[in-house]
Amino acid sequence: MDENDNLQALERAIARDFETLNLPVANWVPEHTGPDGKPMLDVLVVGGGMCGLVAALHLRRLGVHNIRVIDGQLAGLEGPWRAFARMETLRSPKHLTGPASGVPNLTFRRWYEAQFGAPAWQTLGYIPREMWADYLNWYGRATNSHVENGIQLQRLTEHDGKSGLAWRAELQGSEMGAETVFARMIVLATGREGLAVPRIPALFAPLRGQGIDHTGDAPERAAMKDCDVAVVGLGASAFDYAAEALEGGAHSVRILGRSAVLSRINKAKQVGYAGFLHGFPLLSDTEKADIFKYIFARGVAPPRGTVQRVMRHDNVELILEAPISEIVRTREGRLSLETPKGRFEVDRVVLGTGYEIDLDAPEYLAGIGNHIRRWRDTLPEPEVYGELQEFPYLGQGFQFLPVASNAPAALQRLLCFNHAAMLSLGNLANDIPAVSEGGDRLARHIAATLYLLDKKIHAGMLHAYEDPELLGDEIPGLTAWWPEVS
Ligand SMILES: Cc1cc2nc3c(=O)[nH]c(=O)nc-3n(C[C@H](O)[C@H](O)[C@H](O)COP(=O)(O)OP(=O)(O)OC[C@H]3O[C@@H](n4cnc5c(N)ncnc54)[C@H](O)[C@@H]3O)c2cc1C
Repeated sequence: MDENDNLQALERAIARDFETLNLPVANWVPEHTGPDGKPMLDVLVVGGGMCGLVAALHLRRLGVHNIRVIDGQLAGLEGPWRAFARMETLRSPKHLTGPASGVPNLTFRRWYEAQFGAPAWQTLGYIPREMWADYLNWYGRATNSHVENGIQLQRLTEHDGKSGLAWRAELQGSEMGAETVFARMIVLATGREGLAVPRIPALFAPLRGQGIDHTGDAPERAAMKDCDVAVVGLGASAFDYAAEALEGGAHSVRILGRSAVLSRINKAKQVGYAGFLHGFPLLSDTEKADIFKYIFARGVAPPRGTVQRVMRHDNVELILEAPISEIVRTREGRLSLETPKGRFEVDRVVLGTGYEIDLDAPEYLAGIGNHIRRWRDTLPEPEVYGELQEFPYLGQGFQFLPVASNAPAALQRLLCFNHAAMLSLGNLANDIPAVSEGGDRLARHIAATLYLLDKKIHAGMLHAYEDPELLGDEIPGLTAWWPEVS
């Protein structure tokens, strides 16, 4: 048997696992006709990355089948892995079960062993980045996720008509062109950047795209050949890009940080245990905000392997306590950066400054973002929490909440299953470790909501249910002993 045979055998084993667990459960959600005369979707999942795939699996597991999963990227290119991620390996340890949702055969480990054998698993260090992308694509196939690729959500508007409250979603497909669909609920599994924008300090903004780029849109490593490069920031993305520039043949790389120390610890790694996962959502608002304020104030250490990858080179310099106070374009067209540690002249600047939540930024939320309740609308002293106050303030099932009574009535049927959920619900929809727990919470909330929306129909179905257990011939001589019920 070669590795493909092994993978096919694993896929057959997964099909058997699902069959044994009686999955998928039959659809139980009554059909509704939309204003276009077509059956309305129960759920539109936007994003076919890790969170979107997990959402689809958990919904189908609970018998919610009338769903579509779309992703703006082509198949295989979902998520950051083959786009702007530049690390050689994942930062998480290989043994995490991540999206496997309690099915051993769906783990990365089984997928890896099927192809490379159990001994190779023992010697594998961290998971190579593109291999993780391959695994997620396979996971999508193995769980029948049916992601429709190359389809972008462009606009959401509320529709309230005879067919009930729904979201009208305007989609644009690279092949199919424009399409409008109606869905009773929407899951935004749009990733870390989905509800965020690159954090561009004001000083750099006027020169963005003119020698200054953010890591999210910075050029490929080859463009750095023979350049003197300044990378701004001390986090993982800054170090990842520094490594790329060095490996691309940069003449020199300076990593400039404001802080006096390089953070050595990633506090977020400590909060992956079940008590936190399930207890955090129940904390008070200030308790939640204080925890994440503490985690971020400590900085997030770049991974050891990434720093070692950078420091292999001798044309790199780490310069701490070097906030840039001025940028001047020289006559030669270079960029001169003023810092307390001296003036540095470089050809290119790359900002490893991360992302900040901005609910007004996504085009698809135009006219909706301003109605979403933020943490700043809830905390007694929001200014103390800096950027954290811009996170959406979500309900227990990832639903957006209104900031005032004039918000769209369907707002609570718009679910935020991505990084922006962190402040409200913890790490359930961003990193790998707890995404299955997140999918479970999300799908339960959706199942409950769909049931409540249709409770009259369900009551009618209960009254109409007449499937007999006894046929009347079980007791000789008593053919009709039960009374008629009106
Ligand atoms: C560089 C990097 C490294 C990371 N490394 C780790 C790690 O080692 N360990 C860990 O636990 N976590 C890691 N993470 C965090 C997390 O695992 C990833 O961000 C992961 O991709 C999150 O999955 P997701 O489904 O939320 O988002 P994504 O994988 O980003 O998927 C979102 C999808 O939504 C689609 N989309 C967005 N908007 C639209 C739209 N309007 N219409 C249609 N489709 C849309 C996108 O095309 C994308 O495919 C890393 C993140 C990054 C950025």
